[in-house]
Amino acid sequence: MAQEAATIDVYLPPIAKLSGPETSARPDPLRWLRQNTIADVDGMPQQYQESLLESRPKAAFIALVRNSEVEEMVYSMIQLEARFNNRSTHQYDWIFFNDEEFSSEFMSAVRDATNSQCYFEIIPEEHWSVPSWIDTTRFDVGRQFMGSIGVGKAWLQSYHHMCRWNAGLFAREKRLAFYEFFWRVEPGVDFSCNINYDVFRFMRDNNMAYGFNMAILDDARSFPSLWDRTKMFIKNNKNMIHEDADYDWLLQEPFHGNGISRPTIDDDTRDFDRLEYNNCQFYSNFEVGSLAFFRSEEHRAYFEHLDRTGGFYYERFGDAPIHTLSVSLFLPKSRIWYFRDIGYAHGLCEQCPPHQVRLTADPESQQQPQARAVFINESLSKKHRRWEAMSQDVIRQGGIPGLACGCTVSAIDHNNAKLVPFESKQQKPEHPCIRLYLGGKWLEKRADWDPEAEIAAGRDGSGGYLLDGLESNPFLRSDSNEPK
Ligand code: GDP
Ligand code: MN
Repeated sequence: MAQEAATIDVYLPPIAKLSGPETSARPDPLRWLRQNTIADVDGMPQQYQESLLESRPKAAFIALVRNSEVEEMVYSMIQLEARFNNRSTHQYDWIFFNDEEFSSEFMSAVRDATNSQCYFEIIPEEHWSVPSWIDTTRFDVGRQFMGSIGVGKAWLQSYHHMCRWNAGLFAREKRLAFYEFFWRVEPGVDFSCNINYDVFRFMRDNNMAYGFNMAILDDARSFPSLWDRTKMFIKNNKNMIHEDADYDWLLQEPFHGNGISRPTIDDDTRDFDRLEYNNCQFYSNFEVGSLAFFRSEEHRAYFEHLDRTGGFYYERFGDAPIHTLSVSLFLPKSRIWYFRDIGYAHGLCEQCPPHQVRLTADPESQQQPQARAVFINESLSKKHRRWEAMSQDVIRQGGIPGLACGCTVSAIDHNNAKLVPFESKQQKPEHPCIRLYLGGKWLEKRADWDPEAEIAAGRDGSGGYLLDGLESNPFLRSDSNEPK
């Protein structure tokens, strides 16, 4: 796409500090975003729209979903369509997966929610059953125990199948063989901001293999053996680890009882065996990824290795930590992308990017009719909550009605410990996961910051950061080293 300047202010998401040499061969994703963000795709010349449609990446939304979740599925779709996919240049396919046949009600409801092609797939038996090497008694005892101590949904047999399928098997489904990229969508989630560029094209043009938008702590009790199993895999497959991989952000010193771990990872002398996994994960119910990566020898071998240990059943290995470890080990960090600009909410966890609508002389041009579709099919109380959130945005935006987002900006790390229940006594890493991932300036604290004072004021003492992620573009600060 060759558009000189973006037609609407572009929010440029923070990029993680990359190691390895800067090469001119490395794509420049921020430049791409500046050049390819277009608020009004449908206003472009017809021919241009058609050529973009024809040159789309082979990509699809994929949703694992039950018939009973049809309303929630439509809820997610209406938003993603209005915020992104109903642009004439996009129209990406929807592929629904289920462990049983989809009902005709389900199929007609989701078809009504999109103009794109829909496909309905039944997961083959071997991808959704307890493998032969699993001792079913041990599985049953284990899940009752995990259920009793409050590990989320661990007592449900189907939840274990779900995690295993999402961790690796999904990419082998026949229907996906034709595609290069997927975007995972769950029922009942929110997409609260317009997405004014083609996310799949972004992935392809910038050679990205994995995109996420929240990095948070997981409940460590769901995967007690995951790290030891992973270390074993690394030891036996050193050649698979990418030379520009960065997995230090996932490591920490063992717990010595003071509540906070301060990693002292020295590259030359590090005693890898001693280090522990800090339980950070990309929250995978939102993810955009390369199917080639999830079908690669590295990911397959790692998945098979974990599967053989029985950890999906004897424990509750989640797909999120596995994807996180896998992409962090087998990919260079430059192929992983933080979609901070995509407003998203799933259950308790939500992320709302800094957003601004540029002042224009003509407020009419800021109205986005497609966004209206988002608000049908909602209960009154939900409408009310949304209205409250939006009215705050309207105030912040000086009363201009064209809302890029129906959410109020959240700090980058405010979800960090939401998945860790009180009962889990796991240590917390020194910094929130997303800050560890981003590195650099995101870890700097104010010189006058006093954790004791913060604790005395009733907070947890983990604040004091120079950047909180509420800035509409932290990298435009005068002291920044923003790329051209
Ligand atoms: P959570 O997000 O970890 O709490 O897990 P969810 O219960 O939301 O499940 C994750 C995804 O898998 C959702 O899209 C569910 O609809 C789907 N899912 C979970 N269990 C099943 C199942 O037994 N059958 C089908 N078809 N989908 C499932
Ligand atoms: Mn969910």
